Amino acid sequence: MMQLSGSPEAVLAAREPLPFADGLPQECSERELLDLYRRSADPAFATALFASAGRLRDRSLGRAPWWSAGISAITPCELDPLCDYCTFFSRNGAATADVVAAAGGISELGIRHLHLSGGTRLPAKDALIGGYDVHMIELVQAVREAVDVEIEVNVGPSLTRSGVRGLKELGVAAITSSLEVMNPELFARSKPGDSLAARIRLMELCEEEGMPIRSMMLVGLGETDADRVAHLHFLRRFSMLRHLRLSRYMPFPGAAAGGVRCSPWPLARLTAVARLLFPTLDLGLAAGNGPDDLALWWLAGGGNQVLGASVSMKDPRARKGADAGGEARAIAVGERVVVHDEMPRISRYLREMGLTPTFAPMF
Ligand code: SF4
Repeated sequence: MMQLSGSPEAVLAAREPLPFADGLPQECSERELLDLYRRSADPAFATALFASAGRLRDRSLGRAPWWSAGISAITPCELDPLCDYCTFFSRNGAATADVVAAAGGISELGIRHLHLSGGTRLPAKDALIGGYDVHMIELVQAVREAVDVEIEVNVGPSLTRSGVRGLKELGVAAITSSLEVMNPELFARSKPGDSLAARIRLMELCEEEGMPIRSMMLVGLGETDADRVAHLHFLRRFSMLRHLRLSRYMPFPGAAAGGVRCSPWPLARLTAVARLLFPTLDLGLAAGNGPDDLALWWLAGGGNQVLGASVSMKDPRARKGADAGGEARAIAVGERVVVHDEMPRISRYLREMGLTPTFAPMF
């Protein structure tokens, strides 16, 4: 690929983005991708790469970030053992009434798009129905009846084809299957109760059923550059992939995994490479990132969904935040639910970048 040649100095001297106006060519090999990713470690080269990725985002998706929100811990995680980096699992699912109340609180903020996320219950092998199929269908129906929002579902590899079909019939906008890390040994070590094959299988089921897919990549767990690039390359086979979120590894106190905090740099470079591979994909920030990561994310071609609100249900101490004041708004909804509105601060950050977030979902 001639486009990949040229020293960083030459690229910088030309003051031009790399010539990828339409993204990377289909025939771009994994080896060429790896070369591109490795060279982007040099900030001079990354400057040109980010400029290309940002222009491609602008052309493909526009420049209007749009709000979504998440309700997590809606289902218990039944993995045994649990993932060794996880401290956010819940062994108790949320009551349907609390999820509905949380969705109502988010809707009151004007947000029209919502993720329902929870832990994993692996269906029995070859089961026609199992895992959280029935539970998620009933939960989505309950939220639908109460609130007019677009809904996505993320309960790990807990759905069979029946569940995917049922959720599609209910108009669910996308199902998440997060592969996290495309290194089978590292996956098995970090997620000994989980199944990479089951997560891939769920993506395949969604692909076969015409269900839009959201996926996630955990950066900094211990994977190599080659693993990261192989992961992106692997995702190319899914025509239904609509959204990819990148998590930035953080060793949470109390988690067995240990390790070190992932720096923002590999995440930004992967965002740019992903943009060139998938021009129309929504590329978001996931766990381990915060509002301070928004500027680099945007520069690297990320966009356009931003999370404007989250919900806490399992920890009543969160209610104390309800009076935090300033830009932190925590709104108590009923007895057990607190909606955390992050929009004032994120809006300010985005405005300082000349960006105006909207409430309109993309789908
Ligand atoms: S699947 Fe793993 S990361 Fe997700 S909630 Fe369960 S233990 Fe945590």
